[in-house]
Amino acid sequence: MTRSRIVIMLLLAALIAVFFGFGLQHYLTLESLKTQQAGIADYRQQHPALAVLLYGALYVAVTGLSLPGAAVMTLAGGAVFGLLWGTLIVSFASSIGATLAFLAARFLLRDWVKSRFGTRLQAIDAGVSRDGAFYLFTLRLVPLFPFFMINLAMGLTPIKTRTFYWVSQVGMLAGTLVYVNAGTQLAKLDSLSGILSPALLGSFALLGLFPLLAKKMLDFIQARKVYEGWNKPARFDNNLVVIGAGAGGLVSAYIAAAVKAKVTLIEKHKMGGDCLNTGCVPSKALIRSAKFLSHVKRAGEFGIAKADADFDFATVMERVQQVIKTVEPHDSVARYTELGVDVIQGTAKIVSPWEVEVYSADGVRTISTRSIVIAAGARPFVPPITGIETVDYLTSDTVWNLRELPKRLLVLGGGPIGCELTQTFARLGSQVTQVEMAPRIMLREDPEVSELVMTRFAQEGVDLRVNHTAKEFAIENGENILLAEFQGQTVKIAFDQVLVAIGRAANLQGYGVEELNIALSPRKTIDTNAFQQTNFPNIYAVGDVAGPYQFTHTAAHQAWYAAVNALFGSFKMFRTDYSVIPWSTFTDPEVARVGLNEQDAQAQGIAYEVADYGIADLDRAIADSEAHGFVKVLTQPGKDKILGVTIVGEHAGDLIAEFVLAMKHGIGLNKILGTIHIYPTLAEANKYAAGVWKRAHAPVGLLHWLGRYHAWLRKH
Ligand SMILES: Cc1cc2nc3c(=O)[nH]c(=O)nc-3n(C[C@H](O)[C@H](O)[C@H](O)COP(=O)(O)OP(=O)(O)OC[C@H]3O[C@@H](n4cnc5c(N)ncnc54)[C@H](O)[C@@H]3O)c2cc1C
Repeated sequence: MTRSRIVIMLLLAALIAVFFGFGLQHYLTLESLKTQQAGIADYRQQHPALAVLLYGALYVAVTGLSLPGAAVMTLAGGAVFGLLWGTLIVSFASSIGATLAFLAARFLLRDWVKSRFGTRLQAIDAGVSRDGAFYLFTLRLVPLFPFFMINLAMGLTPIKTRTFYWVSQVGMLAGTLVYVNAGTQLAKLDSLSGILSPALLGSFALLGLFPLLAKKMLDFIQARKVYEGWNKPARFDNNLVVIGAGAGGLVSAYIAAAVKAKVTLIEKHKMGGDCLNTGCVPSKALIRSAKFLSHVKRAGEFGIAKADADFDFATVMERVQQVIKTVEPHDSVARYTELGVDVIQGTAKIVSPWEVEVYSADGVRTISTRSIVIAAGARPFVPPITGIETVDYLTSDTVWNLRELPKRLLVLGGGPIGCELTQTFARLGSQVTQVEMAPRIMLREDPEVSELVMTRFAQEGVDLRVNHTAKEFAIENGENILLAEFQGQTVKIAFDQVLVAIGRAANLQGYGVEELNIALSPRKTIDTNAFQQTNFPNIYAVGDVAGPYQFTHTAAHQAWYAAVNALFGSFKMFRTDYSVIPWSTFTDPEVARVGLNEQDAQAQGIAYEVADYGIADLDRAIADSEAHGFVKVLTQPGKDKILGVTIVGEHAGDLIAEFVLAMKHGIGLNKILGTIHIYPTLAEANKYAAGVWKRAHAPVGLLHWLGRYHAWLRKH
């Protein structure tokens, strides 16, 4: 805790102690007020201005320090100053006092609460940021919620101070009036509880709920407004139309068919989308061949004196196509037709919120539908670097067509795709130069992760150029050149072919997004709410076209929510659960992550502890000559609750599954430690990481006494 926080805390504690120490609470009772009333009124007659100031200051102090007695103070306002002046003074004093209490709670506790409960607070914070003023207004109007608790609780949320002040002042006005008015009749009052009759309380509750209901109604009307000018068909051909048969589209259609909805899936190119045809599957197939070659190179490490690999690059690339062919039936028209999906091979265009036009070999037809899921994916982003069009660049869409190994390959980009392909081509025999403008590759991961991967890349002969910004492509003397800026200097890098892998842009053109004015996010993806709905509530978007993640498994995850909400939303809508999202980058060493890493936790102000297990010590990893990497687990301080895990090493993407399950179901490190892991496996690393945590939290005092107990036993 910072020094200023300690000072403020001590000051507040001292003031509260003085209040109770001197028994001042006894003055803030109805009886005391009644006995003092005549004296106070006299004083007010003689010193009207001073009386207002003193009363206001006292009111602010009582409410600012969250002391008991605000209700009596309000009655006193009515008794001494009358209805009009009393209401005015109390209204300002109570709002100022409430804001001071709110600020004190925010200053003293908000960071602490955020660091302890940051991950769980996200949904509450988002709700308060969106509708906080309405919630506060309701709380203020319903006098059942204690005044001081609202002040303190709101201080822990991200609501703006200005908003808190004015909403409080307006919201408390009705209650203030009732109490001040009661104060003008002080002599007739027997108890504080009698001031608010059940009927009055009920009216306040209704009044309080009104703005919240009005807001919901407004949201509903606004959501409907986007449909203005569109004619809704009287009946529909379909329950659902899905655009795109990649991971997101296939799963959406699968779910719809499984629950017997009428669903049409439209794909303009290849069933399976990017993942099957140009993404996960071909990249992992090529990585496998490259890994074999790396083992041949490392033969000595396995006690093999000499091993040679004679291979033809074109044959390796044909194997990649063979792997795609073998997986293809999983995503095929035949399979989905059998599952009950109408599959159309054609181009879809949304022409109204309920109609999709399909252009196929059979001509054009329009399908009417209650809901639409857009799963149109993304494509490689090609930056507008001068001269890029002159160098016949490759992307992750076209690299699979290569049948001749590039001698000198330049890879632009240090993200997952760039890294996987850099190492793969280096292992296949290309001289690879990887260019990244940031100081390290894999920027989303903690620095030591990048460090391990960069070291391995360097060992395998990759020419890694970090802090290099690509500026221009040129052809000099028939040779392709990249001009990059490095530390203020222009550096020339010669290459035969360049692979551009600096990110993926959502597919937004050509299928009705612009025509319908489907809203986009600042990231230039289709904007969706927590239910995967676009600004047209019956049009949903999932996968790469919507983000925020660009993985096959997250596309499939979102697809479940989109399909279920589209088909059953009139009964219940489900918010997409992003609480536990894993991913892996399939470099060697593999890098896998779920939840927070250190840089994320620090950026979000979330407190954590680290348990780090070095895989160099693991028996199976030693036996496999893969003794490198680590399992790093972030936990809540003092608890075994897992906040996030990063694994670097052989099969990290598989090993992380145990932690994904643990996080999803709230299983802590103690339970992982208490679970049998087969010996000797790489999975034991997870248990040992839990062991590292356990040792760091060993009950030192208890162990000391146990030692003494055993010593005593030895003597008796
Ligand atoms: C090289 C590479 C490696 C990758 N490796 C992995 C990995 O290991 N693990 C992982 O999880 N992710 C990986 N990804 C990411 C993964 O491929 C994507 O996240 C995933 O494919 C997204 O699925 P999607 O359904 O959103 O889109 P897509 O798979 O792109 O599918 C969209 C489909 O929509 C179709 N379409 C678009 N517009 C229309 C239209 N108007 N009418 C009809 N059809 C249309 C397209 O033709 C396309 O088939 C990788 C990506 C690449 C490029």
